[in-house]
Amino acid sequence: MVQSPIDINTSATAKDANLPSLQFSYSSFPISIVDNGHTIQVNTNTYAAANTVSYKDKKYQLKQFHFHAMSEHTINGEHSPMELHLVHAADDGALLVVGLMIKEGTANNMIDLVWSNIPDTENKEEQRTIAINVKDVLPAALGYYNYIGSLTTPPCAMGLNWFVMKEPLFLSAAQIAAFRQLYSHNYRPVQPLNNRTVHEKP
Ligand SMILES: [Zn+2]
Repeated sequence: MVQSPIDINTSATAKDANLPSLQFSYSSFPISIVDNGHTIQVNTNTYAAANTVSYKDKKYQLKQFHFHAMSEHTINGEHSPMELHLVHAADDGALLVVGLMIKEGTANNMIDLVWSNIPDTENKEEQRTIAINVKDVLPAALGYYNYIGSLTTPPCAMGLNWFVMKEPLFLSAAQIAAFRQLYSHNYRPVQPLNNRTVHEKP
């Protein structure tokens, strides 16, 4: 079983500065947003092709992003207050998920736009005119932890390529509190590593 999330023990990672880079190519798009009863999720829909990440010459489209509180991954046993998941899929169905640990700091403008557009009704996806650019939540440095895992919600399909970015995303205490008022316990506990290696691009 190769499940996610996991605890990332930074003293046990395989560090290699020559690991391939993640090459993000994001552009702004009008959001479609849903409170699906498990999380707040933004779907790219027809704008997926204009929001991609390339890894090892393979291109993955950003399909959606969503949030967890607390974080699902832990670093050396420690949760962050929240975690953002950017879910990408290639044409052949291969999945690549980028996880951003969310820590308390200064407010993020893109997240303000998302929070202020959360629908009042659950399970009703609403199209908004407001446009965001997901590059506004990416860290400046793109070092990562990489391992093979699974979706963290049923059916927990395996074989996903997981990238947990080393640099966190900072949100204000008020932004974190606003999400946790809706969902304060929508994280899956960490799963056994089971012989997997976590690769680290410093
Ligand atoms: Zn998730």
